Amino acid sequence: MPYSPQIAVIGAGIVGAASALRALQAGLRVTLIDPHPPGNAQASSYGNAGWLSSHSIIPPATPGVWRQVPGWLTNPLGPLTVRWRYLAKAVPWLLRYLESGRTYEQIEQTAKGLRALLRDAPDLHLEMAKIAGVPQLIQKNGLLHVYPSREQFHKDTRLWQIRGNEGVRWLELDHQELTLREPHLNPRYQFGLFVPDTGHCTNPGLYVQSIVQHIVRHGGAIAQTEATGFRYRNGQLHSVVTTAGEIECSKAVIATGARAKALAHQAGDEVCLETERGYHAVISSTTVGPHTPTMLMDEKVIVTAMTTGLRIAGQVEIAALDDTPNWKRAEVLCQLLARAYPSLSCVITPDQINVWMGRRPSTPDGLPCIGRASRSPDIIHAYGHGHVGLAGSARTGRIVAQLLTNQSPEIELSPYSAQRFRNS
Ligand SMILES: Cc1cc2nc3c(=O)[nH]c(=O)nc-3n(C[C@H](O)[C@H](O)[C@H](O)COP(=O)(O)OP(=O)(O)OC[C@H]3O[C@@H](n4cnc5c(N)ncnc54)[C@H](O)[C@@H]3O)c2cc1C
Repeated sequence: MPYSPQIAVIGAGIVGAASALRALQAGLRVTLIDPHPPGNAQASSYGNAGWLSSHSIIPPATPGVWRQVPGWLTNPLGPLTVRWRYLAKAVPWLLRYLESGRTYEQIEQTAKGLRALLRDAPDLHLEMAKIAGVPQLIQKNGLLHVYPSREQFHKDTRLWQIRGNEGVRWLELDHQELTLREPHLNPRYQFGLFVPDTGHCTNPGLYVQSIVQHIVRHGGAIAQTEATGFRYRNGQLHSVVTTAGEIECSKAVIATGARAKALAHQAGDEVCLETERGYHAVISSTTVGPHTPTMLMDEKVIVTAMTTGLRIAGQVEIAALDDTPNWKRAEVLCQLLARAYPSLSCVITPDQINVWMGRRPSTPDGLPCIGRASRSPDIIHAYGHGHVGLAGSARTGRIVAQLLTNQSPEIELSPYSAQRFRNS
């Protein structure tokens, strides 16, 4: 019988789940390690906006963004805010963030890296969802961006051009076409862009849970504990150390999202990783809302009809991982939702609203860390997907399995090197 090594995948968010699924399919024996049940609300993978946006290739920091810095510090409810008491700790990340989006040439480079990862995200997710027995959770019907006016869109033209150069296609919609497609949308949105080769997931938490259940049904294991480090023997990886003892393995994957920094350090790499916290509000039992998941481009929030209700998600808050949530932000989201879909305000009651805060695992340049660790080639980095972790997880899982089985990865991995922060 061929030797089947034991793989420890640390973290059972969507990146860990996708990696474990592909490793299992490659014939490896897999144990997922996570202190929380898969698909739970502590993971960013639970509460995101569900976008499988193969076109989300522009990093968050773009040229001129530094002009907004005073607003980040003075408006705690703005689209991006930094908590004062965390500012000193966040400064190195923030400086790299501003630097990485300083020129359009840098944005083009990042866009190439993200496009390679995301190009066929909806297809790859549908494939995984079919394997897990939940194909209905993945929809491939496109995504919509709406602007108050065509002039506002023109301010973003250069960024859309970069998308176009990477093969992204879209359809421009005037006010009349937009109203026909989205009758509930506030008429103050006069212009839209429909991006057809994209999709969405209608219940991200259930999706993760279903993938992990499939893994367990097919021989994978779950260890409900927290990983704290690695133990090496004769220079080789021997086990993952957890709060419940050691789990022996010949290879390990770090997929702990926003909490990856400490394990990455133990694997020999100092990564620049912060959490861009975000919020959502879900309104249950409503029929008002968009037909196509919609990004309100002036507010930088996304509205998606989920199986659990109408979800509005977004905002960026730079704060310590375990700082208390600012639930006023979720209230703001509800206000934005009611403004964008005015007929909603008459039908929402407070008991219909559920709110959530999650932690995007974010590098300053918007590219994830995927690849082998410095201390041991048997430890694989797979985190840091920031705003596109759901979309990017499907290809990441495939690449992780290729690295675990010593195959050449299907895309060039240098843009995602965890060692790229060394010299900057
Ligand atoms: C408001 C919001 C909207 C978003 N919208 C989208 C979107 O529309 N599309 C998109 O592609 N992305 C979106 N994202 C980003 C996306 O949700 C994340 O990038 C993605 O979920 C990250 O997945 P992950 O598996 O790396 O991390 P997580 O989902 O956070 O999972 C990490 C897991 O690791 C576990 N863990 C942590 N430390 C340890 C440890 N020491 N030992 C064991 N386990 C550990 C945690 O318990 C957790 O289960 C959004 C994020 C937010 C906050």
